[in-house]
Amino acid sequence: RDPTPKEPEVATERTLILVKPDGVQRGLVGEVIARIERKGFRLEALELRTLEREKAEEHYAEHRERPFFGELVAFITSGPLVALCVSGEGAIAGMRTLMGATNPLDATPGSIRGDFATEIGENIVHGSDSPESAERELGIFFPDRF
Ligand code: UDP
Repeated sequence: RDPTPKEPEVATERTLILVKPDGVQRGLVGEVIARIERKGFRLEALELRTLEREKAEEHYAEHRERPFFGELVAFITSGPLVALCVSGEGAIAGMRTLMGATNPLDATPGSIRGDFATEIGENIVHGSDSPESAERELGIFFPDRF
């Protein structure tokens, strides 16, 4: 038996990150990308685009029945966003930590939402919440790549 305790294995993952239209509008694209790079994650793909309504509804399909769905789709299609594929060890959970809690008022200072936002509807960034979501969402934004 090997007496040396093993480091828990952390998978190398890809995740979909969005700098939402409020982040682009406020000039926070560079800030968000700098934090991703400084953390040590890699950029695999990057695109500035304005989302069509259909794509937005597909991306947020799990929220279709929620009362804020209409506003969410209107907001995410309201102007250009930046879509990124980010990779690295534990990138899915790691990016969620870098982003902070969904409600920016609950987000830890030092996180993107904690440092730059106050409103849940305009919380600057999106990041996939599981390997399954990441696969699905990368397929929506980068169908030819991932
Ligand atoms: N959202 C909102 N009102 C709510 C809950 C969520 O406007 O009561 C928005 C918010 O911008 C959030 C997005 O819907 O980022 C998706 O919600 P989710 O629970 O998936 O949060 P996330 O994964 O983005 O942290």
